[in-house]
Amino acid sequence: MLDHGTFFLPGPTEVRPEILQQMARPMLPHRSAAFEDIYARCDAGLRPIFRTARPVYIATASATGMMEGAIRCAPGGTVLSLVNGAFSERFAQVALSCGRTVVRDDVPLGSHHTPEQVAALLQSTGACTVTLTHSETSTGALNDIEGIARVVHENGAVILVDSVTGLAGARLEFDAWNLDFAFTGSQKALALPPGLALGVASKQFIHAAAGNSDRGTYFDLVEFEKYAVKNQTPSTPAISLFYALAEQVEFVAVEGIEARWDRHLRMQTMTVAWVARLHGELHPDFSVLAPESARSPTVTCVTLPAALKGSAVAAAVAASGFVIGAGYGPLRETTIRIGHMGDHAEAGLRRCLDTVRSCLEAMLRTT
Ligand SMILES: *Cc1c(COP(=O)(O)O)cnc(C)c1O
Repeated sequence: MLDHGTFFLPGPTEVRPEILQQMARPMLPHRSAAFEDIYARCDAGLRPIFRTARPVYIATASATGMMEGAIRCAPGGTVLSLVNGAFSERFAQVALSCGRTVVRDDVPLGSHHTPEQVAALLQSTGACTVTLTHSETSTGALNDIEGIARVVHENGAVILVDSVTGLAGARLEFDAWNLDFAFTGSQKALALPPGLALGVASKQFIHAAAGNSDRGTYFDLVEFEKYAVKNQTPSTPAISLFYALAEQVEFVAVEGIEARWDRHLRMQTMTVAWVARLHGELHPDFSVLAPESARSPTVTCVTLPAALKGSAVAAAVAASGFVIGAGYGPLRETTIRIGHMGDHAEAGLRRCLDTVRSCLEAMLRTT
C-alpha cells in the first residue's frame, strides 16, 4: 500500500509510482497476440473485483462513457433514475439526452433510496430500467444495491449501477446480486490514472440489447461483448493504460478483494471517528453528511460550521501538502470530502486527517 501518499481527492486518486512507470513502456499493435495477452490479464484480474464470471468490457473513456453505453443498451420504456447527488443526477441526464423517457426520484443530499421506496416507484411508474449510484461521490452516501436489485427484478425491470467510487473499494457482487450492468472508471478506487471505463453486463442484458437499433457506435456494449471474448476492444485502446491496469489488477489480487474492502471500511471508520472528535473538540457543527446506516467506505463528506467554506478549507489543506475535495455542486461550500480509497491505508490517511485538523483549527481561530 501507499505509505507517503498526499492525494486524497475523491477522484482522480493517488497512483503508485510503479503503476506510472508501466505507462512508459513502448507501444504494441492492438490487433496482436501480445495485446490480447494484456487484455486477458486485465479481464482475469477484473472478474474477481466485479465478482463475476462474465467478461469485462474496457473502454477508452471516462466512466461517463459507460453510463451512455448502459442507457443506449437498456430496454425500451421508462427509465427510473434514483437521484441522491450529482452523479446519480448525471445518470438521469444521460438517459434524457439519449432520448429516453425519464422519471426522476430525488431524495435529500446525503440520503439514499430504500428497496421499499424503489418497489413503490416501480409500481407507480412501470419503469423498465433503474439507474442509481452505488457510492454517491458528491455526498458519501451508499445505496443498498443488493436489496434494490432484488425489488427491481421482482418488478421485471433491469438495474444499471454506477459503481464508480464503489467497485474495488466497497463490496459489490455482480453475479450473486444478479446485476444487469455495473461500471466504474479507472481513476477512483482502482487507483489508476483516468482514461478507462470498465463495465460488466449480464448475458440476458446484452442479449436483449442486441435488439435495440439505436445503440450508437463508440459505446455499443454489444460490440464490446463481441470483442471482449476475443480479448480485444472494438477500436484502438489507450494501450499505456492497459499496461497500468494489468499491473494493478495483479496487485489487487495479492491483497485479495475482501481484504481490500475491509481496508476501505477501516479507513472509513477512522475518518468517521475523526469527524466525531472535530464535533466534540472543535465545533458542534462538524458532522458526517450521510447517515450511519448508509456511508460509503471510499469517501466521507463532512459538513462544516457556517464560518468555514469548503473551497477555502481545501485550499488551506493543499497549501499544507495534502489534496482533499471541496464539496461538490450545491454542497461545494458547506462540506469537504475526504477520498479514502484506492491504495491508501490507515497510516497515510492518519497524516492527512491530522493535517486537515490543523488547518481547521487555524481557520476557526481566525474567524
Ligand atoms: C467520478 C464519478 C463519475 C464520473 O466519472 P468520469 O470518469 O468523470 O466520467 C460518475 N459517477 C460517480 C459516482 C463518480 O464518482
